[in-house]
Amino acid sequence: MKDTADTQAALYGMARWGDGLLTATSDGDAALCLPEMPSKAPVSLPATMHALSDRGISAPILLRVQPFLDRSLTRLHAAFAKAFKDVGYQGTYRGVFPIKVNQQSEVISRLIRVGQAHHYGLEVGSKPELMIALAQPLSPQALLICNGAKDEGFVRLALLSGKAGFNTVLVIESLREFETIRRIATQLDIRPQLGVRLKLTERVGGKWQASSGDRSAFGLGGHDLLTLVQRLKASGFIDCLMLQHTHLGSQVPDIIDIRRAAAEACRFYVELTALGAPLTHMDLGGGLGVDYTGARARDDNSVNYSVQEYCTNLAETLRHAMEAAGLDHPTIVTESGRFVVAQSSIFIFDVLDATLYDSAEKPELRDGDHHLLSDLAAVEGYIDSTRLREAFNDTIYYRDELRALFRRGQIDLEQLARTEQSFLYLASRFKAAAHIHGDLSAELGTGVDHYHGNFSLFQSLPDVWAIDQLHPIMPIQRLNEAPNRRAVFHDLTCDSDGTINRFILEGGIGDALPVHPLREGEAYHIGVFFVGAYQETLGDLHNLFGDAPIVTITLEGPDGFTIEHETEGDSIAEVLSYVEYDPGACLDAFRQTVEKAVAAGKLSPSERRMMTAAYKSSLAGHTYFHTASPIIG
Ligand SMILES: *Cc1c(COP(=O)(O)O)cnc(C)c1O
Repeated sequence: MKDTADTQAALYGMARWGDGLLTATSDGDAALCLPEMPSKAPVSLPATMHALSDRGISAPILLRVQPFLDRSLTRLHAAFAKAFKDVGYQGTYRGVFPIKVNQQSEVISRLIRVGQAHHYGLEVGSKPELMIALAQPLSPQALLICNGAKDEGFVRLALLSGKAGFNTVLVIESLREFETIRRIATQLDIRPQLGVRLKLTERVGGKWQASSGDRSAFGLGGHDLLTLVQRLKASGFIDCLMLQHTHLGSQVPDIIDIRRAAAEACRFYVELTALGAPLTHMDLGGGLGVDYTGARARDDNSVNYSVQEYCTNLAETLRHAMEAAGLDHPTIVTESGRFVVAQSSIFIFDVLDATLYDSAEKPELRDGDHHLLSDLAAVEGYIDSTRLREAFNDTIYYRDELRALFRRGQIDLEQLARTEQSFLYLASRFKAAAHIHGDLSAELGTGVDHYHGNFSLFQSLPDVWAIDQLHPIMPIQRLNEAPNRRAVFHDLTCDSDGTINRFILEGGIGDALPVHPLREGEAYHIGVFFVGAYQETLGDLHNLFGDAPIVTITLEGPDGFTIEHETEGDSIAEVLSYVEYDPGACLDAFRQTVEKAVAAGKLSPSERRMMTAAYKSSLAGHTYFHTASPIIG
């Protein structure tokens, strides 16, 4: 049995992209595991969903697996430690978490707690993010890197935070910003720790390549940099310049690009040092990617390197450059966000319904059927290997002719319905013909079912919608059963864009996911994996579907897991208030309307009571499809 579940899971390429975090049990459940603890029993996802449902938490949910978060952070630091040892790098590593990648309080506080031992810090790109950082118990040695456009309030707070024990670095993004910093630092009589953000000329591949190269919107080019150095010297601030910052963009697919960029960053570092800047920190930004497809390839959703290779390449490049220039090895800083959080979250939704584009039901011919309808039915007689293409062509021809007859008023709705039914039946016969998979099934266009999911793509998976991000997706149950259907997923929004129709499969990227037929009264859950980076706050309120509940779990306890923290999803009242409705006022207006109906004798008082109760409980409830379940006790 174990083999069966593994075989089915293999269809989804799980062994490749799973990174050791997932397995399939002999019961066919997708289950969570910790590669560092091979003796630990895997934690079944369907069992977890069941146990959560007993507690009143049901799909769609965002499941945050705390040990996965801890693991990525630990891996990153271990990889740098190993790289430094292997390469003979004498500097230290100071990681910072870029808050924009996942701002959720639970995530930030966990990272700071687990990162204490490594003096893990934070990177902020805005004033709200600075407010978050200043509320964290950072280790005094942990860095607080301030990027982004800084107004006077930002600069004042960041400068003063140094006095309160924060190890704050203000990264100068423009010449104008330096003037603000200089003025306020002088007023406050504070010697700041300064960084400078540079534009590299090397461009990198990947979706975020616009963040790199000299047309990038951020940082100073060579000419401005030289001007800045002159101004720093003239104003007596050159001694404060301790960090050089570069950022290539996120999810850089090719290690060669990373290496080249690091080498160029070293050139600037050496030059700036020669000009008198006492640099000690080289901040190489983000870009460390996640292999979402498991292809280990240089494409947008993969990376052709491991975290170890990334760290070793940086250490090696910096060591060579610094030794050639006779400089000490700087402290390496990275702002690796995606790598640290992506794997820790799994989005799970349930399938509400399916629209099938084939049928096992064979319509009987009747007296008076149009002769084309009989011709269509007769195709079944020659769906075999020798005449498959001919049978297919005929099917399409007869169906289209019959549809044309309907449009011209020559056959009635009953005949049209039987045409559609015959077509769906033939589609199932074509599918059954073994070698249909290739070009024919694509042309048939009917091989793919529409599964209707209880989620909003726009709210929960915004990058899937906006930038064609691929996440691993698969059913989390029945993996010991061959999935004999193929489907795309539609969300709850009334928007044809709310569709997932690209999938990571064993053989590459496919346009439909192998799925199981739905069973009456039985939940069918789909897991979207590795959604911890960027998805949680980019989402929007299309059709007013709000945040799904977030459940943070550890992988210990009697149920196999323990709920560490629970964030309720948005209630309808909350979502209404986001778009400037006062839910109380809505309720009042509704009450008045129904009371008028009672006064006019159209509604009974008890109907009024029922309606108001439904309105009130809906306001308090969440925004997603609620599958009625009996509430006991
Ligand atoms: C977005 C961003 C990051 C995070 O990049 P990842 O690829 O997610 O690690 C780091 N630094 C800066 C300046 C950023 O804008």
